[in-house]
Amino acid sequence: MDFNADYTMLVDGKLLQAAAHFAVINPASEEAFAQVPDAGCEDLDQAVAAARRAFPAWAATPISERRRVVKAIAQTILDNVEPLHRLLTREQGKPLSEAKIEVAGAGQWLTAFADLDLPVAVKEDSEERFAETRHIPIGVVGAIPAWNVPIMLAVFKFGPALLAGNTVVLKPSPYTPLTTLKIGELVQHLLPPGVFNIISGGDHLGPMMTGHPGLDKISFTGSTATGRRVMASAAPTLKRLTLELGGNDAAIVMPDVDVEQAAQQLFWSAFFNNGQICVAVKRLYVHSDVYEPFKVALVDYARTVIIGDGQQAETQLGPLCNRAQFERVLGLINDARENRYTFLLGGERMPGPGYFVPVTLIDNPPEDSRIVQEEQFGPVLPLIRFDDFDEVIDRVNASELGLGASVWGRDEDQAWAIAERIVSGAVWINESLYMAPTMSFGGAKQSGIGVEGGLEGLLEYTTSQTIMRRKLPSAA
Ligand code: NAD
Repeated sequence: MDFNADYTMLVDGKLLQAAAHFAVINPASEEAFAQVPDAGCEDLDQAVAAARRAFPAWAATPISERRRVVKAIAQTILDNVEPLHRLLTREQGKPLSEAKIEVAGAGQWLTAFADLDLPVAVKEDSEERFAETRHIPIGVVGAIPAWNVPIMLAVFKFGPALLAGNTVVLKPSPYTPLTTLKIGELVQHLLPPGVFNIISGGDHLGPMMTGHPGLDKISFTGSTATGRRVMASAAPTLKRLTLELGGNDAAIVMPDVDVEQAAQQLFWSAFFNNGQICVAVKRLYVHSDVYEPFKVALVDYARTVIIGDGQQAETQLGPLCNRAQFERVLGLINDARENRYTFLLGGERMPGPGYFVPVTLIDNPPEDSRIVQEEQFGPVLPLIRFDDFDEVIDRVNASELGLGASVWGRDEDQAWAIAERIVSGAVWINESLYMAPTMSFGGAKQSGIGVEGGLEGLLEYTTSQTIMRRKLPSAA
């Protein structure tokens, strides 16, 4: 298989082109290096129809067999980490080392997740009646991931959907469709036709999916603004929804922290994947007692980090993934400059080509500044000084978002007590970004609806069904 050409969609078990195509850009060079099918209405209809035809038989397939297939897909991804991660770097921009972690991690996550089972609970077993609650698949799932960790996010959706007995139409982001399409090509022979379909397309395709009457559920990962549109568009057909949306995650650094160690860990908590992680640290609240030494340690460490083309072995931070995100992040930097906030590092434009932004640290901007209030999703981080724990918890919780948060310090009981008062889907203590297949993950408030991962994540792809049997009088 040629990983650098011939990108096709997977529909009804066949590899297909579309009437139109669009270009994929390498964010490090801004060169269009691949053409992919631009699915239209008819392609979507075809994929949905195939998924609907395939649904009854797949739903009736024992979960042990579905598990075997999901694990075979995972193994195929693991067997092809080498070419897949190189392709991922070219379309997404992240360093090869991170792309490898993502592709291998997706395969490993899927392997472990597939061990989960759908529970059956006996609710009554009396003289009159036997009743049990079980979980049946929903139907056809439309899966719409974002571009930041496109393979991981796709796996988070199609893995549980398939294991639970649904069929799938997956649409990768138009910025990062290539690796996903190649995975489709690699796994097509592992599934019955129509069970797993992958279609690529431009901005028109997502809204077409969320409004399509043939899809029973949408599993969406993206911004909160788009999540609102997805919910509105899904309302007329009352589709089930999982929405994994934006975050403005706060880290709270306590006065007893190990400054050097925390500065380094928090750098990567904020800047891994160039800050393009939903649960990246996006506002860093540091206690006054350690603010100055922490600031110095963070700036010193940040100066050592190498920015460049993700395809170069020494690169630690690549470009931003796409022009829209690049301009958004530059807009936030310009706003900080116009408001005369103090830059500890960065803030200037880097010479092109490529969507490169320097690591930018801003010293104690006001709480109501855009860089504190908005999700930057890029390599710009505000450090904010605080004195009082009650007050900082209020500031953290004032956001309409509540995806993740973290607390850093030696007093673990105090850190735990703070964690319990934060309103978010996850809180880490003395670490961040950690996720496991058995742990559910999702957002509080406007960071989302529903969860991914864990048994709770699997159940999102099911309808709860209770069967009640009135016991007949036994024949005398
Ligand atoms: P986005 O909302 O622009 O797009 C996400 C996906 O939705 C893409 O595939 C896009 O093509 C599609 N899309 C765009 N408009 C649509 C519409 N009207 N209807 C249906 N689909 C549509 O988001 P993005 O910029 O690609 O991703 C960045 C955002 O994703 C950030 O806010 C980040 O925090 C969030 N995110 C959240 C999680 C999480 O698990 N909570 C994980 C990763 C990223």
